[in-house]
Amino acid sequence: MARPKFVLLPTHPPERFAPVLGLAEYTAVEAAARRAREQFEGRAIWHVSSTLRGGGVAEMLHSLLPYVRGAGIDTRWAVLREDPAFFALTKRLHNNLHEDAGDGGALGPEERALYEGTLERSARHFEGLLRSEDVVFLHDPQAAGLAPHFKALGATVIWRCHIGVDDPGAMTRRARRFLVDDVEAADACVFSRRGLVWPELDPDRCRVMAPSIDPFSPKNQALGAGCGAAMLATVGLTAPNEDDGAPHFTRADGSPGRVERRAELVQDEPIPADARLVAQVSRWDRLKDPDGLLECLAVELATAENVHLLLAGPDATAVADDPEGAFVWREVREHRGVLPPKIRERVHLAGLPMVDLDENAAVVNAIQRRADVVVQKSLAEGFGLTVAEAMWKRRPVVGSRIGGIGEQIVDGESGLLVDPRDPRELAAAVLGLLGDPLWAARLGAAAHDRVRRRYLGAVRLAEYGELLGELEGVRA
Ligand code: UDP
Repeated sequence: MARPKFVLLPTHPPERFAPVLGLAEYTAVEAAARRAREQFEGRAIWHVSSTLRGGGVAEMLHSLLPYVRGAGIDTRWAVLREDPAFFALTKRLHNNLHEDAGDGGALGPEERALYEGTLERSARHFEGLLRSEDVVFLHDPQAAGLAPHFKALGATVIWRCHIGVDDPGAMTRRARRFLVDDVEAADACVFSRRGLVWPELDPDRCRVMAPSIDPFSPKNQALGAGCGAAMLATVGLTAPNEDDGAPHFTRADGSPGRVERRAELVQDEPIPADARLVAQVSRWDRLKDPDGLLECLAVELATAENVHLLLAGPDATAVADDPEGAFVWREVREHRGVLPPKIRERVHLAGLPMVDLDENAAVVNAIQRRADVVVQKSLAEGFGLTVAEAMWKRRPVVGSRIGGIGEQIVDGESGLLVDPRDPRELAAAVLGLLGDPLWAARLGAAAHDRVRRRYLGAVRLAEYGELLGELEGVRA
């Protein structure tokens, strides 16, 4: 266990959103920012999470907080650095909250002692830094147990929950029992969707706010002609081509960036230039069902001509709070290895380097833009930022009819929803889109517009301003 990492955040001007949002919407954002600036003069808003990279929470904070700073509000981000035993326990809580047994371990008094002891020690690092006039957002189960400590310091505490399922069972309930006293210590809780709100909590203290993406980040920015192709060739996913541009992008801090590292690849040959590419980008997590996708390709898509499947995710050793990643990566590799050779040659696995997060994001961007169809075959999904990211890029997305994916995609309008347990339905949706590019483009255009209206960071800034205003009212 080490001292939390205090992240050095860049500052982005919220005015960037003006042309994307249109005048009326942007004026409302500006007014909210002005109010928040006045309210938080001389105070700080903190965020505490458990990883700097890999996964939706890190993504959301990287893409939202620089704009809050740009609006003139002192915003800070601390990342917990705990022992592997703590992260094994919090991954169990994460899985249980998705109604999955995870590693099958207990949530008894010993686990509670580990959880409390760890976070009590972590909380001490904030003494003298976090002041009673500050507001702190604690993200997900990993940070929830800090709530009583930060309340004792006098701060306003908000628990931000990104995960869960709509139909909780015994697993979910036991994880909630484990966490509920800590969560109740917070002044308010924010959930990513209505269906995730815990019935155990006072509804008046619960709010719903969807996550958001940053259209200007290396993950989502428009790429120059041939740049995406050059990035894919640089990481080794495709063969270099004379039409490729340079693998250039703009970094989060505005400086020029360039993709340079190779990915860890498991493939027979690079993806052919004319391949019809179906891609899923995710952490290596069983709940993203990479095995199910391989199975679907092997059985249902086997006869479809020239369809290639790419599963890409972070370099499996790089995500500190996800100890299962390396196991799942190995399982997927093994699964690919036993596929019949004719199928195997169409499956590409990529572990994307995480040394340089902007570079990693740029490669995700290039993959999502190259894909003819983006899939997200999750078995559970709190929200699923990868879906919003692909929709923003006007991709036709086929996603599981569950959780946050079902909220983002309007089936048949802005993408397609399928039963994740039915590989035939998934394959039919993918093949339908590959066979009808005009329809695919129509869905992609509607998807872009839906993200623009609902899931851009600027819209969230105004909502957070409102919540903080309300909490001030309660404190006064
Ligand atoms: N991601 C990434 N690099 C990778 C793989 C994934 O930056 O190599 C990002 C992905 O683009 C998305 C986030 O990780 O922004 C995953 O968020 P999501 O909400 O889809 O799922 P979670 O990982 O939180 O379960």
